[in-house]
Amino acid sequence: MAEQRALIGVKYDDPYAVEETFQLFKIPWEWYDPSHAYDVVIARRGEVETAGAFLVDLLEKDYFAEIARILNEGLPHCHEPVVEILIDELRQVLKEHTLLVEIPPVPWGYSYIVALTHDVDITSVRERRWVSVGYAVYQCLRKGMVKDATCILGAKCGIGEDPWRCFEEWMRLEEDFGVRSTWFFLPEKGMAGEGAPAIRAGYYDLDPALIKTLTDGGWEVGVHGLDNWWDAGAAQDELRRVSDLTGAEVGTRVHWLLFDAGSWKKLDEAGYAYDSTFGYNDDVGFRAGTMQPYRPRGCERLLEVPLIIQDGGLFGGKTWNSSDDGGRGACLRLSEEEAMERCDEVLAYAKQYGGVVTLLWHQVSMAAPKKWGEFYRVLVERAIADEVWVASVEDVTRWFERRRKITLYFDIRENGFVIQLNGAEEGSDMANLKIFVPLHGSSIQNIGTEYQLGNTIVKITGENDKMSVYLQ
Ligand SMILES: [Zn+2]
Repeated sequence: MAEQRALIGVKYDDPYAVEETFQLFKIPWEWYDPSHAYDVVIARRGEVETAGAFLVDLLEKDYFAEIARILNEGLPHCHEPVVEILIDELRQVLKEHTLLVEIPPVPWGYSYIVALTHDVDITSVRERRWVSVGYAVYQCLRKGMVKDATCILGAKCGIGEDPWRCFEEWMRLEEDFGVRSTWFFLPEKGMAGEGAPAIRAGYYDLDPALIKTLTDGGWEVGVHGLDNWWDAGAAQDELRRVSDLTGAEVGTRVHWLLFDAGSWKKLDEAGYAYDSTFGYNDDVGFRAGTMQPYRPRGCERLLEVPLIIQDGGLFGGKTWNSSDDGGRGACLRLSEEEAMERCDEVLAYAKQYGGVVTLLWHQVSMAAPKKWGEFYRVLVERAIADEVWVASVEDVTRWFERRRKITLYFDIRENGFVIQLNGAEEGSDMANLKIFVPLHGSSIQNIGTEYQLGNTIVKITGENDKMSVYLQ
């Protein structure tokens, strides 16, 4: 066999920035080796001998620094996936000078991914204090929902069904679509968290029977963090409270999306599989510049699955943790029609670039006075019609973990080329990964596996870690 040869060599002094960029933009590449011949070298002019290769000069534009900065620091009110746009700019440059093969951030057979989540701040009217019940009743009356106001008051006095306990309704809705979601539960009752106003506290105990019903039914249960984002001890304790009940790996989303620069590392060290806090309370969009799960700097294992669209951001009045200064701030307060337009913009980006549109609809938002459940149902219905993979965060994270483990090699032969995949897990179901080969269908004679013409997408299967592409 001929020596494996990467077509792209990279020289850069921040390995994390390069490695993470090429986890999102999954193509064959290697660290620059002066004894190898390349089509393209990515480096700063003057630091390498290009020997005829095309140079992507990082002095002109430092893609790696820019991408690593956005992923780890985030952007306020960002309405386009700027990391994906940077990657696409690099992709177009590389395509002109070499043959790119790429594993896109979308499984075979799907156009993009939607992850469904529910934060559980409230589980019943009864547990809430009179002041918050009174405020909800007032909001109902203002909207003319007299019957709902009566039901809420009744439930607070122990009469009739509790309208704020919507678990069964959510489960029915998702069962009808054949999809499952992730539920983030507060780990402790009556705790606002250090430095937070008292209103941040929840007033329910973790309910082992409810959690068992959810996990037995295929739903995922995670931690709605209180202090895990800043305190290493709390991070472990909150994780254990939930994982003791689920017996499974646990991810987290922090209540009110509280977060700081050290949070990822603490969550990673405590053993959380993922975090899904990085998003906006008062907006919709791309705080991390991408919809792809990624590894924040300094983390061994944890992936961030950015939060993209939440009910409160679209329809809410005010948030306690605005994306401008972390204080009180206004949400978008959109009509349903305006909200659907904003969501359509996001879904169009997902179709173009792939990745995961993570949705957050709060447990109680199905009920009056909010009644945002129908909008969620329409969104999920639309995703399914778009041939989207709709899943829990856990399942999505697992898929991206498998994609991350793979290294692509590329070897040109006399009558075509060989694509080799290393690191595909033994016995794991790799059937839903795919590779883009940007060749016109007419130039291909045969590929040793299932493929689709057009963009030419090759299906990766477990048995198939090496694929030969024969050209005409
Ligand atoms: Zn919350």
